[in-house]
Amino acid sequence: MKWICIIAALCCGLPLAADVSQCACDPSKPETMKARECSLCNVASQHKGEGKFFVLKDNNPRKPNRWLVLPVEHGEGPHHMHEMSTAERVEFWRTAINLGKEKFGEEWGVAYNGWKVRTQCHAHIHVGRFIRAAESAQYRFVRTVEQFPAPEDAGLWIHPVPGGFHVHAGEQIAETVLVR
Ligand SMILES: [Zn+2]
Ligand SMILES: [Zn+2]
Ligand SMILES: [Zn+2]
Repeated sequence: MKWICIIAALCCGLPLAADVSQCACDPSKPETMKARECSLCNVASQHKGEGKFFVLKDNNPRKPNRWLVLPVEHGEGPHHMHEMSTAERVEFWRTAINLGKEKFGEEWGVAYNGWKVRTQCHAHIHVGRFIRAAESAQYRFVRTVEQFPAPEDAGLWIHPVPGGFHVHAGEQIAETVLVR
């Protein structure tokens, strides 16, 4: 199974899946924060006192048109979005959407990968330009950010449509619907 993943990743140019479910990082114990999948946690620590969320340019040189929005505070272990309070989650999405609008007008898209394919435990929403050709028939139309779901397992990708948003859920890898 592992080999199939590696071959699939090589063929599709996808990042190698690094399961963050075993992440046991705890900001009060610096020795637990040294794992590579916790590097964004360390970046978040440098943003203390700057408000609830911060923005990072994706540092992958192959993704020059991507940004990340991250909470300053840490969740536990793999930092699941469904463990945030509703108010926190809504503000998290709003921050990402506002950044998307600022960069791409009404062509923005936001994506949250499922934890099975995340390479970083610290919660992060990918922000970019939505690839129209990636549109699929599997979506839920919602009118407000408050109606965005918080799936425990899969990822989410969301883009604007007249009168509201398409919420596409069910896949692990979500960020590939955004221009790199
Ligand atoms: Zn971690
Ligand atoms: Zn963290
Ligand atoms: Zn759609």
